[in-house]
Amino acid sequence: MQSAIARHTLKQTIANNIAQIGKDIETMCSHADVPQAKPRLIAVSKVQPQDRIIAALEAGQRDFGENRVQEAEERWGTLKNTYPDVTLHLIGSLQTNKANKAIALFDEIQSVDRIKLAKALAKEMALQDKHLPIYLQVNTGAEPQKGGVMVEELNTLHEACIALGLKVVGLMCIPPSDDDPSLHFALLKKLAKKENLSKISMGMSSDFALAAAMGATDIRVGTAIFGERVKA
Ligand SMILES: *Cc1c(COP(=O)(O)O)cnc(C)c1O
Repeated sequence: MQSAIARHTLKQTIANNIAQIGKDIETMCSHADVPQAKPRLIAVSKVQPQDRIIAALEAGQRDFGENRVQEAEERWGTLKNTYPDVTLHLIGSLQTNKANKAIALFDEIQSVDRIKLAKALAKEMALQDKHLPIYLQVNTGAEPQKGGVMVEELNTLHEACIALGLKVVGLMCIPPSDDDPSLHFALLKKLAKKENLSKISMGMSSDFALAAAMGATDIRVGTAIFGERVKA
């Protein structure tokens, strides 16, 4: 059992972390070469104990990102009833056989990276009459072990999604951990412009301020809000 004091401290810590990220973004956006609009902060709640998530909700945070359908169902199945204005973002790789569950639970999907998945999503969205905004995940570092469509195949995937009637709104990337992220942020921004897409999801705990200054419209931050990921 946590004491009332420990609970209060956790709530304060997480509220402070969120506020600090807001300030950092603001500073970076206003000092960028070309002033940028403040991006939306998606709090990445994957593999975090539930009390930290509650603390973020109590601090007013409403956009959350999860990377696994089953874990997200366990966490948000009932919590979403308590906080109906939460927006849930799927940011991890999705298997086609989980498309139905993903569409039932999530509000936006940022990890569409292949035509087979796009087809499964289009079918399920029609069945559930729930037409979610989607992002195409781009493998900007061409890493074989990572999800995301290769840069050369992005336009084909985008065209296929449009033909399927999907509501494509933006692009998402996860730069290689050992690379300078600014190269990948610049590339993603260029690709979004080329594809005529307005949303750009890039930047995590270590580089969200840089991403904001480079034109991110969504940043996805986990550990800088919640601390290191530990199972409850
Ligand atoms: C885990 C994760 C994040 C958040 O990472 P942090 O370094 O904890 O901020 C962002 N985006 C994706 C796709 C993730 O899987």
